[in-house]
Amino acid sequence: MKILVTGGAGYIGSHVVKHLGERGDDIVIIDNLSTGHKELVLYGKLIKEDLANTEAIDCLIKRYKPDAVMHFAAFIRVEESVKNPIKYYSNNTANTIKLLEVLINRGIEYFIFSSTAAVYGIPENIPVSEDTPLNPINPYGRSKVLVEEVLKDCGLAYGSFNYISLRYFNVAGADERARIGQKYPEATHLITRALKAAKGEIKNFQIYGTDYDTPDGTCIRDYIHVDDLADAHLKALDYLIKDKKSDVFNCGYGHGYSVKEVVNMVRKVTGIDFEAKEAGRRAGDPPALVADNTKIKNILNWKPMCDDLEYIIKTAWEWEKKL
Ligand code: UDP
Repeated sequence: MKILVTGGAGYIGSHVVKHLGERGDDIVIIDNLSTGHKELVLYGKLIKEDLANTEAIDCLIKRYKPDAVMHFAAFIRVEESVKNPIKYYSNNTANTIKLLEVLINRGIEYFIFSSTAAVYGIPENIPVSEDTPLNPINPYGRSKVLVEEVLKDCGLAYGSFNYISLRYFNVAGADERARIGQKYPEATHLITRALKAAKGEIKNFQIYGTDYDTPDGTCIRDYIHVDDLADAHLKALDYLIKDKKSDVFNCGYGHGYSVKEVVNMVRKVTGIDFEAKEAGRRAGDPPALVADNTKIKNILNWKPMCDDLEYIIKTAWEWEKKL
């Protein structure tokens, strides 16, 4: 199989590339390296190109003739999306539509899309199933919902075009041998920030909100190890090629941990009793976000292998220490 991976030099993309490479797929990666890093690419051929450059992308598709495309290239910072929505709609939405146009014109039949639990906004019922109404509360989430809508229409209109959208919950952890992991200039995610606080790199680590309607008052999230998420992509791809049925799946473990539980686990794993100041709520945080993963388990036969917060944090810590 020849797979083209956009954003394959990023955190999640590079783990998927690793899994594809390990099973012997032929991989071509397109990444503009704006947030990706070439050293995260363990397999395949990396081409530095921007998705906005439609002509170049078209040439690459014509040249490499991939059997399928996995699309990770996107911006992911919620706060930034509120301050600069155009950046998000133009890269996450418009560039994806341009990419789809090229792929459909070139007869590409299989497309895997990185979506997000942010499409649900603040869900009323937990765990969240895929048929929950989409109600994003920030431009980042909306930029992904718009693509999901476009994909739905494309799946209906173009008979040979099939896609799967994977809605990620809180992705964390790193390669078990610490070869690859999360590498952002300014970390916003809880586990990474807590690890950087343990390292002494972040001085003012805070817990955002302790008055939520949850057992310990802090937000609950469903943390999924990046290798399990990567495996979900391979399962999705194989299913799409075999069954040719477009669909949408949640990617999470179906249970969550509070911010305080995560912070305590980071202290345990690192052996460092760093300070975590209790602060006010961060705007737009839902109290709890946990996946109903029944669908992906039943249809894709996905079986999580790393559903263990301690393991997730240990792998992230081993990676973080190398940075
Ligand atoms: N969080 C926190 N301190 C931090 C970073 C995050 O208390 O330094 C909280 C955040 O408010 C949320 C949870 O940790 O309740 C997970 O946030 P993250 O940004 O990792 O992921 P999100 O759920 O927003 O995608």
